[in-house]
Amino acid sequence: MKSQLLLQQCLASRYFSEEQIKELMHKFYTQDCNYRDQIEICNKKLEVFGLQLIKGIDEISGEGLWVLCDIRRDSLTNLATNYSPLEITYLKIVIDSIITADDSKFCLSYHDAIRKHSLVGIQSFKQKEASAALLKFQADNWLAISQTGHFRISTKSLIELNTYLTEIYKDELASCYLCSGLITIGFYCDNCSKSTHAICFNQLSKQTPPLPLCLNCGHALTTPNCLIGSFDIEPFAPTKRET
Ligand SMILES: [Zn+2]
Ligand SMILES: [Zn+2]
Repeated sequence: MKSQLLLQQCLASRYFSEEQIKELMHKFYTQDCNYRDQIEICNKKLEVFGLQLIKGIDEISGEGLWVLCDIRRDSLTNLATNYSPLEITYLKIVIDSIITADDSKFCLSYHDAIRKHSLVGIQSFKQKEASAALLKFQADNWLAISQTGHFRISTKSLIELNTYLTEIYKDELASCYLCSGLITIGFYCDNCSKSTHAICFNQLSKQTPPLPLCLNCGHALTTPNCLIGSFDIEPFAPTKRET
């Protein structure tokens, strides 16, 4: 009974901040084990339904985000209930354009996104339909907007579409060697080939000298070569703070 109520609450929200998941776990389990252990117990129950709570981090704020993922089916199949087949095709095209953007920028302007409507290849899917679909993708948090007004892939998409994205974009998308999440804003070391989220790097490198050195091999990271994604902010935040 208790686990059914918990399942209902997970299904109702589908994604949770670190604080929200902590609260939810404490509500359903005894207080004496920590919430990470409680999530593990919960995930064992969810597995029966083909579901798992999976954690990712927001690439800008560094905050944890827990997403209820369907591990039996391709997550894009789940979109079929909320979107038309044309909208799903268009979302795939927009995601593809973001991931394959020049210079690994991982972003797309609104006008470029609208222009991609023609790739859907159906006469009835015009600019107006593309514009409405983009609003829905943003409202449902599949796409995020950067400070410069460009579309980015949201943290929710990076977690929930992880299987789809890693299968199709093995060469374009790197995983963070610190947290294993997919990277659209981060650093690449051309010496050891390891990549990290900018936020993971900056959280850890507070103790290192104020020079951007690879946390894995100590090699100097030189901009712009080491940058993955487009930076609205100073890439090496601690460096700026220390000097
Ligand atoms: Zn990371
Ligand atoms: Zn390195």
